[in-house]
Amino acid sequence: MLFSFLIALIVSSIVTQIAVYSTTIYLHRAATHRAVVLHPLAAWGFRLFIWITTGIVPREWVAVHRKHHAFTDEEGDPHSPLLEGFWKVQLGNFFYYVKELKDPGVVEKYARDLKPDVWDRVLFDRSSVGLLVGIVLLCLTLGIGWGLFAAGLHALMYVFVLSSSINGLCHYKGYRNFQNTATNIRLIAWLTGGEGLHNNHHGYPRSPKFSFRQGRRFEFDPGWLIIKVLSWVKLARPLKTIEEAVKMRGPAQPQEG
Ligand SMILES: [Zn+2]
Ligand SMILES: [Zn+2]
Repeated sequence: MLFSFLIALIVSSIVTQIAVYSTTIYLHRAATHRAVVLHPLAAWGFRLFIWITTGIVPREWVAVHRKHHAFTDEEGDPHSPLLEGFWKVQLGNFFYYVKELKDPGVVEKYARDLKPDVWDRVLFDRSSVGLLVGIVLLCLTLGIGWGLFAAGLHALMYVFVLSSSINGLCHYKGYRNFQNTATNIRLIAWLTGGEGLHNNHHGYPRSPKFSFRQGRRFEFDPGWLIIKVLSWVKLARPLKTIEEAVKMRGPAQPQEG
């Protein structure tokens, strides 16, 4: 019993981290901000992971997140803790996301460059099929009971703890290197593939690397490590990092949007 529980806990954490890295590298840095260009093979792999671990339709996530950058913490932001209140966004982030997508114009306006291809039409646009495949795989690995437990725990961690901490906590508490309303929380960065360095990200959204060497404290972006490994094997081509952009533009010139 205890052994099965521990195995389910480990498997669930691995699934959550696969979802987290696919989110930060594919959905966020590549598809939304074009900060890294992924080889089609790598992109396809991430799309598969996103499909079976989250059911997220990439162009919907991209649209909501681009709108968040366009109206950060002002009227129009889909999920601002400064406007809505911290706990409402921290606990209700998922519901704000669903609410935003009720307006079909959001995807049309903010993700018009992401046209559905044949893979989307056959597989990746079918959220519930992806989630079902993921749950069945967990049940085949762990047995039905522990498989459902691992799937539930993963959903809880991904939706209500990790993703919501970026949009809630990382616009509320933490330190800043750049003049914007987002914050950096290093512990959250370790758990979210680097996303917790959210103030840096809002300062330089086109940087594929979220940590900033000249920041006040030691920052580590694990997502950048994966991107570096992918670039060594020619599966990713990252654009300019924050340090390179700062060197070119001067320290007091954070990017917009
Ligand atoms: Zn933000
Ligand atoms: Zn972003």
